[in-house]
Amino acid sequence: MSGYQTRQTAIAAVTNYKPTTKPLNFSETSPADIFGSNVFTDKVMKNMLPQDVFKSLMKTKTSGEKLDPSIAGPIAAAMKAWALSKGATHYTHVFYPLTGLTAEKHDGFLSPDGEGGAIAEFDPKLLIQGEPDASSFPSGGLRATFEARGYTAWDVTNPAYILENPNGTFLCIPTAFISWKGHALDKKTPLLRANQVINKSASRFLGLFGNDNGEMVVSNAGPEQEYFLVDRNFYFARPDLMVCGRTLFGAKPAKGQELDDHYFGAIPRRVLAYMLEVERELYKLGVPVKTRHNEVAPGQFELAPLFEQSNLATDHNQMIMTTLKSVAKRYGMACLLHEKPFAGINGSGKHVNYSLSTPSQGSLYSPGETPHENMQFLVIVAATIRAVEKHGSLLRAVVASAGNDHRLGANEAPPAVMSIFLGEQLSDIFEQIKAGDLKRCKTKGCLEVGVDTLPSLPADAGDRNRTSPFAFTGNRFEFRAVGSNQSIAGAQVALNTMMAESLDFVCDEIEKIAKGDSSKLRDACQKVIQAIMKKHGHIVFNGDGYADAWQKESAKRGLPNLKTTADCLPVLTDKNIIEMFDKYGVLSPEELHSRQEIYYEQYSQAILTEALMTVKIAKTIILPAAIRYQGELAATAASLKAAGIEPTLGTLKDITAKLRNLQKNTAALEKLMNKVVFKSVEDEAAYRTDEILPAMLAVRGVVDALEDCVADDLWPLPSYQEMLFIK
Ligand code: ADP
Ligand code: MG
Repeated sequence: MSGYQTRQTAIAAVTNYKPTTKPLNFSETSPADIFGSNVFTDKVMKNMLPQDVFKSLMKTKTSGEKLDPSIAGPIAAAMKAWALSKGATHYTHVFYPLTGLTAEKHDGFLSPDGEGGAIAEFDPKLLIQGEPDASSFPSGGLRATFEARGYTAWDVTNPAYILENPNGTFLCIPTAFISWKGHALDKKTPLLRANQVINKSASRFLGLFGNDNGEMVVSNAGPEQEYFLVDRNFYFARPDLMVCGRTLFGAKPAKGQELDDHYFGAIPRRVLAYMLEVERELYKLGVPVKTRHNEVAPGQFELAPLFEQSNLATDHNQMIMTTLKSVAKRYGMACLLHEKPFAGINGSGKHVNYSLSTPSQGSLYSPGETPHENMQFLVIVAATIRAVEKHGSLLRAVVASAGNDHRLGANEAPPAVMSIFLGEQLSDIFEQIKAGDLKRCKTKGCLEVGVDTLPSLPADAGDRNRTSPFAFTGNRFEFRAVGSNQSIAGAQVALNTMMAESLDFVCDEIEKIAKGDSSKLRDACQKVIQAIMKKHGHIVFNGDGYADAWQKESAKRGLPNLKTTADCLPVLTDKNIIEMFDKYGVLSPEELHSRQEIYYEQYSQAILTEALMTVKIAKTIILPAAIRYQGELAATAASLKAAGIEPTLGTLKDITAKLRNLQKNTAALEKLMNKVVFKSVEDEAAYRTDEILPAMLAVRGVVDALEDCVADDLWPLPSYQEMLFIK
């Protein structure tokens, strides 16, 4: 189908759009009734399980105590009964391999009963452990293919749930995925480990202030998910979108996002209908979706849930991504989660709001009202400043991917340089502590930790500074560099481990100075904050992160600027990083090496696929269209000449020159792609970055120029204008 025909079909689809399902009616069924209806919640378990079993399970869930294996039997029985009552015929261990996707393999509950019939069975052993034939998942050398066994182990901390399909339902059991030697092959295992680690170090930290009451300190995440929607007719007419997730070609539309008229604008009817259904599906799964709005780019939207403890928030974010994609099809649209589907238009990220909290204290990043609370608050913020300055490169590395490079490495928010936004008031407080010496302080009005009560700090209004990759927003930090398509696990593993290390550091230092004497605590905190600010304070930056001036200034401050994934991945096996992860038992050196290798391969593969697609589209879709147009022009010129009219040949010459360039640039890219043997994965990644990407861009340059001069009815691909604006 030509682009012209696709456009007609898409326009008809939009203008004739009618819901295919019965309209949702929230007054008949209130969202509160739907919420969690497909989840094996604590409440359901409390009703179905013997009291001692339920109590034992809750202990494991809330205080991290080891699971008593004897309770698996009754839980499996209850889970099966509940799932059957919801119409489930199958169960699956859901896990999160290093592809970043969600994996599942279904098994039926039915077993032969030996008398020609069948009974529904669910062996408790299958609840605790599964054994998918998982040889095809990336393991980075941790598990040779001949030792295909990987185990899925039940994650008791997250609830099981039911997924629906028009033809039936199945039970999903969240699991960790590990090799037979116990290596983490997934995103969840290190997160569970990092959660334990941060609990231990943060509890020690709270103990210094007399605030460790035995409660678990948990890390929380509130991920705001951005995405694009395009009509499915366009999607299928763009092989680059289908295969690579982003457009490899596309001339700049006459109107982009310059007018900022999309942000928070009225949500188009079909899109809103879609959002309502996405939300209803997510309510059923107990995902607390809260906010929806148009984003900055035309065709871009955002969905944000309320924050939850990080492991649950991570599973829920995976469900959000799956649901966004699957529901879009029902509304004749495709949901694009790629970080940069359209060049020249804002990309999509995931702002991960991060905090540490206990049930009785709430967020440890809340300033609090008494001097004592202030002291604890100021020290934990200082520990965060130290962590981000020390391990900023790690934070950059855990969000590195071929897709996210188009955001972070390019001239858009947030930049690749990691810095912290504290806001003016909080920065001022830290600057004062840094400059303050205790004696002069009072007279000069300097802040003394814990004596003065902090002024109330305004929460970041959102638009005050949206250019910072790591911004304090009143009672949490917002990490904005995560890609829209990525699992949020990696970022949280890094944050929790860095924070554990930094909190242990401040505890050691404070203990050294105060020596257990509580009257010296204030002075000790002051000194530690001061020292941290002197050494690491240059990571604080409240200005415009997009500006060229910051690129220069950050270089002067010695902050790393890792532009591409190829620049970032070496960080994962940096000596300090290996030591830190090993010391805390979050990732072993072997696990880090395997991850690094996998991410290198994924990166190179992504670019290779894009390059292959670039050549294919250039040769088989663009070239023929441009030649057709050239032919038309030539034929017209010949007829004019025959009629005795001297033709003007400007356009024909222009097209001919562009066609030559297209062939030349495509051939150059193909030639570069012939290189297939590399010394190492690093070598290959560098080659893909330095040679292949620019050659692809050269092809794109000519194609986009052709799009602006070939006759519109001959142009074979839907244009940016159409994809972005026809909703
Ligand atoms: P904005 O667009 O202004 O950043 P949103 O309302 O879109 O705000 O998203 C804010 C996110 O931060 C939500 O997921 C919210 O639940 C989460 N959040 C709020 N408080 C905390 C906290 N203490 N810790 C972690 N996340 C939080
Ligand atoms: Mg935000």
